[in-house]
Amino acid sequence: MPLLIFGETGQVARELSALAPDAIALGRDTVDLSDPRACAEVIRQMTPSAVINAAAYTAVDAAEDDEQNATIINGHAPTMMARACAEIGAPLVHISTDYVLDGQGSTPFPTTAKTAPINAYGRSKEAGESGVRAAGGTYAILRTSWVFSSTGNNFLRTMLRLGATRDSLNVVADQIGGPTPARAIAEACLTIAEALKTAPEKRGIYHFSGAPDVSWADFARAIFEAANLKTKVHGIPSQDYPTPAKRPLNSRMDCSALHTAFGIERPDWRASLPALITAITSET
Ligand code: NDP
Repeated sequence: MPLLIFGETGQVARELSALAPDAIALGRDTVDLSDPRACAEVIRQMTPSAVINAAAYTAVDAAEDDEQNATIINGHAPTMMARACAEIGAPLVHISTDYVLDGQGSTPFPTTAKTAPINAYGRSKEAGESGVRAAGGTYAILRTSWVFSSTGNNFLRTMLRLGATRDSLNVVADQIGGPTPARAIAEACLTIAEALKTAPEKRGIYHFSGAPDVSWADFARAIFEAANLKTKVHGIPSQDYPTPAKRPLNSRMDCSALHTAFGIERPDWRASLPALITAITSET
């Protein structure tokens, strides 16, 4: 029985397909998450050994005016996936976000922290977590943050684009979190999916982010240094960079539960920069 992946084109989905070439990856053309029943149906038909949901409505600002669609894709679709997985006895690894938390304080959030999202995207992802947990099957909800890779829309690519033409940039310095390479998330998902097949008692919520925790401004500085760019970074407060969706100031996550259950360590995000920068800057 194959491993089934929802998502084909996304940052994490691409890494999953690269690491697990025998898995079946379903893109939007095959199953649209706007149709949650179709998500359940494909699982019942294919009876996979495990399911990883790497697809999501990830446009955080757009979700503010489109919460209904975001909730269908991030809330109802994973709920239906989890119910179908429970029916056929397959574990589900569902990727979530620190945005389900309230972003208050300055200490890492444990997995037991109460959810209290501060924007529409966070609420839609919280709905997905609730549905997955309530479905009664074997699941892992893997909350991650600040995802980056050589593809897609992410902070690394944006900084490299801007840094190529700008002497200086203003970057938010009061939001702190762990940048997380998509490759490391994919590796963690695969390890968890495999482990849950024989150890369903490990079901639950897990946190996974890269180390060390930094501000966006410090992340930008590290990117420019690794890319040999001279762009100066001026740290600014969030209030000077208004966005439609409010962002949490504290995205720090305590990832110890994941280490205890599955032996997965926080990856040092700085180590993945050189290879990704080379891949991005050598694009034609
Ligand atoms: P991307 O934005 O790179 O990719 C999203 C994927 O979801 C794409 O493959 C997209 O397909 C697919 N998708 C979106 N809507 C639909 C739909 N209606 N039907 C089918 N497929 C759809 O996501 P990431 O890889 O960055 O994120 C992976 C996970 O990590 C998500 O659960 C996300 O919420 C979570 N996360 C991401 C963070 C980040 O910084 N990016 C931070 C924290 C958590 P298409 O190309 O066709 O649109």
